[in-house]
Amino acid sequence: MNIVTTDSQSASINCIANPATSPSEGWKASMRAAFRRTGDLAEYLQLPDTAWQKGLAAAEDFPLFVPREFAAKMLRGDLTDPLLRQVLPIEQETVSVEGFTANPVGDHEATLTPGLLQKYHGRALMVTTGACAVHCRYCFRRHFPYGEGPKGIDAWSAALAAIHQDTSLHEILLSGGDPLTLTDGILGQLVENIAAARHIRRLRIHTRLPVMIPCRINDQLLTWLTGSRLKPFMVIHVNHPHELADDVAQALALLSEAQVPLLNQSVLLRGVNDDAETLIELSEKLLDLNVMPYYLHQLDRVQGAAHFEVSRAEGLRIVQTMRSRLPGYAIPRYVEEIAGDTSKRVIA
Ligand SMILES: *Cc1c(COP(=O)(O)O)cnc(C)c1O
Ligand code: SF4
Repeated sequence: MNIVTTDSQSASINCIANPATSPSEGWKASMRAAFRRTGDLAEYLQLPDTAWQKGLAAAEDFPLFVPREFAAKMLRGDLTDPLLRQVLPIEQETVSVEGFTANPVGDHEATLTPGLLQKYHGRALMVTTGACAVHCRYCFRRHFPYGEGPKGIDAWSAALAAIHQDTSLHEILLSGGDPLTLTDGILGQLVENIAAARHIRRLRIHTRLPVMIPCRINDQLLTWLTGSRLKPFMVIHVNHPHELADDVAQALALLSEAQVPLLNQSVLLRGVNDDAETLIELSEKLLDLNVMPYYLHQLDRVQGAAHFEVSRAEGLRIVQTMRSRLPGYAIPRYVEEIAGDTSKRVIA
């Protein structure tokens, strides 16, 4: 992997959608230019005609959304490409399978106020937006009732009041959806408000943007992320080593040069990363880029995602192989989420 180092004075990565746009706005052009129709993505990738059409019904309630930056990393003409498989609506999603439900991890029960979830001691998760920079077909929040409430800082007044009041909280996670689909202006205000609660020490951003639209990592973002009293962490979400191309490496380099600790979580997915070689290569590449492997999640049993499931027994074998080949710090914790537990449950 070729790590591109950039001049840390000016963080700017070209957005492929519109390289001419100013560095602070280019990512929005990439969002607008993303594929939203399976037919357009199929044409771009030269996919065999009929195969993808069977999945059109699955796209009705959870549409396709794929940035061009991500599509560019897929192999042409290959329906089994591990990146494509994460995002292509297929017929199997519409089959209901017992045990796979709309609310698999107890999000509804963990809601403190609208937009604020707490499952674990000391940390609470803000559902900042329903928007994402990609629609992952296995997403555990694909049926989450985000609602169409007010946008912007006012939308979070109840959540922020709860954060200010509860002095047992030390860490706020910004999640969603994907928090980095919000503008830097709004995120700056949000972080400033959170930082005013003196008991909060850490801010954790859960995002796929550095991978989906690498030019999202710009100066404006680095300013609010590193400019507050809060210790920032970023958890990215990479499932396959092909996702870590040079543009992504460049975005991650900007973050690590700015002293933002980087962690990665993956979901164990049938047909994407369900073999030890792929996950070993993923860990190696992450370490090259200063990203620590954090979690490997057992799939949450969300309706429409059954075809992605890998059994725990198989997952255990994969992780054991990884452990026999890599240093301990390169092994993500293999975990599952059980509604009502006080932490993620460690499988291995
Ligand atoms: C997964 C999760 C967290 C983070 O758990 P860590 O083990 O600290 O990474 C926090 N809050 C909620 C609601 C979660 O689902
Ligand atoms: S980016 Fe995260 S929240 Fe958004 S669709 Fe993918 S898994 Fe779900």
